[in-house]
Amino acid sequence: MAYEVVIGLEVHAQLLTQSKMFCACGTKFGLPANSQTCPICLGMPGTLPVINKKAVEMAVRTGLALQCRIGEKNRFARKNYFYPDLPKGYQISQYEAPICEQGSVEVEVGQAKKPIRIRRAHLEEDAGKNIHEAGAHGSRVDLNRAGTPLLEIVTEPDMCSADEVVAYLKQLRETLMYLEVCDGNMEEGSLRCEPNLSLRPVGQKAFGTKVELKNINSFKFVKEAIEYEIKRQTKVLNEGGKIAQETRLWDSDKGETATMRSKEEAHDYRYFPDPDLVPLSLSPEWIEELRTTLPELPGARQRRFVGEYGLPKYDAEVLTGTKAMADYFEACVRLFPQPKTVSNWVMGELLRELNNAGVSAAASPVSPERLVSLLQLVEKATISLKVAREIFPELYASGKAPEQIVQEKGLTQVSDEGALAKIIDEVIAKNHAQVEQYRGGKEAVLGFLVGQVMKSSGGKANPGKVNELLKKKLAG
Ligand code: ADP
Ligand code: MG
Ligand code: ZN
Repeated sequence: MAYEVVIGLEVHAQLLTQSKMFCACGTKFGLPANSQTCPICLGMPGTLPVINKKAVEMAVRTGLALQCRIGEKNRFARKNYFYPDLPKGYQISQYEAPICEQGSVEVEVGQAKKPIRIRRAHLEEDAGKNIHEAGAHGSRVDLNRAGTPLLEIVTEPDMCSADEVVAYLKQLRETLMYLEVCDGNMEEGSLRCEPNLSLRPVGQKAFGTKVELKNINSFKFVKEAIEYEIKRQTKVLNEGGKIAQETRLWDSDKGETATMRSKEEAHDYRYFPDPDLVPLSLSPEWIEELRTTLPELPGARQRRFVGEYGLPKYDAEVLTGTKAMADYFEACVRLFPQPKTVSNWVMGELLRELNNAGVSAAASPVSPERLVSLLQLVEKATISLKVAREIFPELYASGKAPEQIVQEKGLTQVSDEGALAKIIDEVIAKNHAQVEQYRGGKEAVLGFLVGQVMKSSGGKANPGKVNELLKKKLAG
């Protein structure tokens, strides 16, 4: 039997606010357990939540970037369940009236473009963390994370392969990072992705039973988990079995998914409007004001890089990978308007060093001004391209100006005709046979002679000048 794969994605993005969703506690990661708590996020009776305006603002900006309709009247709801990391016994979330609805993201897989519909994006609070230490007596609870703002972004079941999911997730992550609403760190859990996956016989309209996948903390695992799950479900169905509606955990060591729990239905959560929070009214003027704060988004910037700078699509894609990198590139091009040359340096030499050091372009020890000075030295033929490439690691590591490195190392290119003529005479004297061949019409030998001059100059001779002078001498 041939099956069609159906996937919808739930993504939780931790918002980069200073304080929590409903109280003034800080959101810093890695502080001593329970040091970032107060009666509100500890769920003490009699306390009242207050909505974090910055979180609402980030949700609206994200919704606008994802082409959503913004709910001018949206409401918080209680999602009831019991777990030790949830002291109130309910999570404040949104249910019937989310802040963002009905958006769309266009993703590209191979050559094909495909819109992925966003069903909704809603605000909610995160839970705390249960800590189970090996050998410890009992488990412990850290509530520092309890109440941290999350934006849950849910798609329609529009994806049908691991590659489409990865493309969507990459684009969503870039968008959130451009908006500066989420740091996008999947390993640390500030961006968590839960694919829902089902199969149906090709041609069948009705969806099959879906399985929700959790514990996926990198793009590599997204792909592996989905591919594993497609195989597993295909096998179950082909053997005449039924798919159980459940949540399965990805185990990256074993490379497989395993049952975590059978999935609750929405009515199990007894959702109801939170009586402690009035409906949130957003004025159309405020929404429009926020629209004006949207940065140019990665897709648009990529297209502009191709159109405005004539860059290959591949370059534009790499350079717009992060806002910092794209800003860096454009700062260089303003000072040195040769986009392709700048692109080669940024994507090659610079990116290599940044990646090795795990540093963002925003924190590059080589500023755009410094990189441009280096390119100008090549442009003016003060140094050769080869020398420029060779000294780049030192430029990166030392923080020195390129001019200083060139001077200290005596790397200035020799273009002076007198100095070059001397070397050329020596080379001609030492290579009689080749000189005769050249004069006899074998022009290819010129390359060999140029090479000899370059060699005896220690690579510092200006190759253009050498060519020109050598030809003159050999003709004379
Ligand atoms: P739940 O209430 O179980 O969380 P939802 O209806 O809220 O389910 O959908 C959660 C996600 O699962 C959405 O992204 C949705 O697109 C996707 N989804 C829903 N039904 C299916 C299905 N049959 N197969 C694959 N994905 C699905
Ligand atoms: Mg859900
Ligand atoms: Zn608090």
